[in-house]
Amino acid sequence: MTNVSGHLTEAQAQRLLEQSLDPDTDRGVEEHAAACAGCGALVESFRALDDALDGLTVPELPADFTSQVMARVDDIERASARERRWAFGIAAAVLLVAAASLAAAGATGLGNAVSTVSEQLDLAGRALRVGFGVLPGLLSALRLQLLLATTALSLPVLYGLSRLMPAARTESI
Ligand SMILES: [Zn+2]
Repeated sequence: MTNVSGHLTEAQAQRLLEQSLDPDTDRGVEEHAAACAGCGALVESFRALDDALDGLTVPELPADFTSQVMARVDDIERASARERRWAFGIAAAVLLVAAASLAAAGATGLGNAVSTVSEQLDLAGRALRVGFGVLPGLLSALRLQLLLATTALSLPVLYGLSRLMPAARTESI
């Protein structure tokens, strides 16, 4: 038995190829495939696909592939944690130095204070740039928390809006 159009189903074409036809449900399949150009082509396309897949070789992975990948991941995480510590450390140091130099400026005069502050601003700018370099990694590491926080924040807003909408409608009537 073939499908409603009288031709082979894909499953039948595959079973014919694998020589695993069911004597009951696949009766006449072999004869039909031999006589019908379309179904013969279907079977041939499956044969070609099988051959192509057989020809594919799966590259052998090194035995320690997983541990190597995990080691790389650990390295990257350690490096970005180190960068974050550096960024915070630099920012804290800049603030301390700025505070100290402002205090010292009281004694040494305004001219010195201006040049010291501009140096501190330059340092702070560098610290900020390091911070921004870390930010994308931080954001991607925290994306689940950010998503949850955003959802949690938007729920009351949506609730408030849903409360407002019918009220606005009844007022306008
Ligand atoms: Zn056919």
